[in-house]
Amino acid sequence: MLRIKKYVKVSDIDEAYELNQKKRNIIIGGMHWLKMGDRQVNTAIDLSDLGLDTIEETEDFFEIGCMTTLRQLEQHGGLDRYTGGAVKEAVKNIVGVQFRNTATVGGSFYGRYGFSDVLTAFMAMDTYVVCHNAGIVNIKEFSARKPDRDIIVKIIVKKTKLDMAYMAQRHARTDFPVLTCAVSFWAGVWHAAVGARPAKAEVVLGEYLDCGRDISEEDAEKFGEYVASRMSFGSNMRGSAEYRKKIASVLVKRAMLEAGRKR
Ligand SMILES: Cc1cc2nc3c(=O)[nH]c(=O)nc-3n(C[C@H](O)[C@H](O)[C@H](O)COP(=O)(O)OP(=O)(O)OC[C@H]3O[C@@H](n4cnc5c(N)ncnc54)[C@H](O)[C@@H]3O)c2cc1C
Repeated sequence: MLRIKKYVKVSDIDEAYELNQKKRNIIIGGMHWLKMGDRQVNTAIDLSDLGLDTIEETEDFFEIGCMTTLRQLEQHGGLDRYTGGAVKEAVKNIVGVQFRNTATVGGSFYGRYGFSDVLTAFMAMDTYVVCHNAGIVNIKEFSARKPDRDIIVKIIVKKTKLDMAYMAQRHARTDFPVLTCAVSFWAGVWHAAVGARPAKAEVVLGEYLDCGRDISEEDAEKFGEYVASRMSFGSNMRGSAEYRKKIASVLVKRAMLEAGRKR
């Protein structure tokens, strides 16, 4: 059970950062993950008065505040158009609408969860995590860092021209995924992010491909095999390493073909 002694709704981010430096204090997002643990917390730090619950779109980028919910990601028209529906596809099976109405982007990035559909989708885009202390950090670097006592303020996605598709394998809708996969083409290179291996998402680039956006079924099949051969897979209650490797090559192939069709 989660036990909280004191609750503070902060009025600025510096106050939140200072409070968060104490080991027994925590930032709270939607609290879905936190409430699963058994923990005694001194001060729960709530960022919900800081106006960080919006998605701002400009010509060049999206700025997604850390208190934005997964449901907002799912329903944002600009993100939907930019990703060809891939972000919506990535979050639509996360538990249910009521859950997504409160689960936050900050909590989803901070956890760097192996099973994360959210991390997988954003790894396949030109994404940056804005941390209060560390500043602007590329998503790959952020994902490789251990969770610390910094605060995620917002996420920035640069609007590089993008073709993208998202696919995941689940035993049942709304269950944790067996494998997550986002494939995209931007800056002249194919990107494949695969997560829930069960380790967190990693990206393999198709730099060897000289076909550009125009991919054939054969290119996609080979890219699927290439990506699967360059990643490590593990076993858990949801599937074996061998099964995941096979699924990965198939999902990468299908997602690449789908992204190619969206041009
Ligand atoms: C039963 C269940 C099923 C799930 N299934 C899936 C799934 O299928 N796919 C998927 O992608 N995800 C899934 N998730 C994860 C979920 O989508 C959220 O990512 C998760 O609940 C964390 O979001 P939250 O807002 O609840 O964060 P919280 O539980 O409030 O916080 C999680 C952690 O993040 C920290 N934190 C929160 N905000 C910030 C911030 N701004 N800066 C720094 N640290 C911060 C907290 O201190 C805490 O350590 C599941 C979660 C649960 C509980």
